[in-house]
Amino acid sequence: MKKSRIIIISVIAIIIITTIIYYVSLKFYAEPLIEEEVIEEKLPEKYGEILDGWEIYIDTVRKGDYLGTIMNRYGITAQQIDKIAKMSHDTFNTTMINVGRPFVVFSDTVINDVPVAKIFIYENSRISYTKYDFRNSDTILVEKHEKHIDTVTNEASGIIKYSLWQTMIDNGYNWDLALALSQTFAWTVDFYSLQPGDWFKIVFDELYVEDIRVGLAGVKAGVFYHGGKELWAIPFKQDIAVCFFDTLGNSMRKTFLKAPLEYTRVSSRYSTSRMHPIFNQAREHLAVDFAAPMGTPIFAASDGTIVGRAYGTGAGYYITIRHNSVYTTVYMHLSKFGKYNIGEYVSQGDIIGYVGSTGWSTGPHLHYEIHENGRKIDPLSFEPPPAEPVDSANIERFQIEKRKWIDWVKNIELKSVVESDKE
Ligand SMILES: [Zn+2]
Repeated sequence: MKKSRIIIISVIAIIIITTIIYYVSLKFYAEPLIEEEVIEEKLPEKYGEILDGWEIYIDTVRKGDYLGTIMNRYGITAQQIDKIAKMSHDTFNTTMINVGRPFVVFSDTVINDVPVAKIFIYENSRISYTKYDFRNSDTILVEKHEKHIDTVTNEASGIIKYSLWQTMIDNGYNWDLALALSQTFAWTVDFYSLQPGDWFKIVFDELYVEDIRVGLAGVKAGVFYHGGKELWAIPFKQDIAVCFFDTLGNSMRKTFLKAPLEYTRVSSRYSTSRMHPIFNQAREHLAVDFAAPMGTPIFAASDGTIVGRAYGTGAGYYITIRHNSVYTTVYMHLSKFGKYNIGEYVSQGDIIGYVGSTGWSTGPHLHYEIHENGRKIDPLSFEPPPAEPVDSANIERFQIEKRKWIDWVKNIELKSVVESDKE
């Protein structure tokens, strides 16, 4: 009995002593270890300078400030400012500073209560800054730098209640994501007929500079549930650029006809200013004119819905086709319309009208416009990415990529709209 008690006590004692020794040794040995780590760690840097050893002053440009007056407050002499103004004549316009933009002063000397700037940083934008280096008394170094941009991959999802836009905002995403999403699915989802209950899940890249979001890089992959179907956008690099494909490897884009008619010649190109033949004054021509005989058939440049079919004083008889939420095409000066009415769906190549000279026109021609997000672009230089499906030689590689993206996107939790106003 006594013996077993002694054994138990000894065991407990050993455990206690071992534990004490363990913790004491931890304390002893852990400290030098941590110190070693600190030494190896890089000292904090900003604007390419090690912050240690400087007094740093951060402020913003106020109304009425000039770069010269601000620098002068930090001990930079009139001669030095003059020197900067001369040397930075073209590259660094010293007068172009904006109210509210930050500037940073690195100083290690104070003369008459004034901290003297050795390095002066002006933040031109959230992604760039100009550095004025006064450390060398003979020369002033002026350099413009771009900050490092980090790409961060994020996920988003939502169920449409009223609109895509509203869903994005309600779910706490940035508005530009709605635009990027509608561009990705432009050809497969009719964003004008979204229904409550339609939903989406996407993976996208955002751009950050020093933990501040500066923009959206784009949608990487996703799925949109619309019209009772899951419509997928799978990114895949077939040739030079990454394009989106559906799960079967078909391109998500539709091609545009190079020209919506057989024409004899381009009689007027896209230009932001030209002499107008009727008004005889410089006017922009944000379209291309194709000269063609009267009555030449005009084709729908791509699939879409007729949203304009009317007569305008300048346009004459014209047709407008909305292809998706991004692209619209306009056809003017027609002699007569094809058989399609407003609201009807047309396929690429369907005859929508015939060449004429109605409206402000000096001879039979087609005035053709392409609108991209409401902006008139040059139809002759417009090159939509190829719409070919995944090539059979690439299909195996595509299947692997597809599996990866589908697994990722499917695992995104579907976020329901947060009710902000509960009554
Ligand atoms: Zn024209």
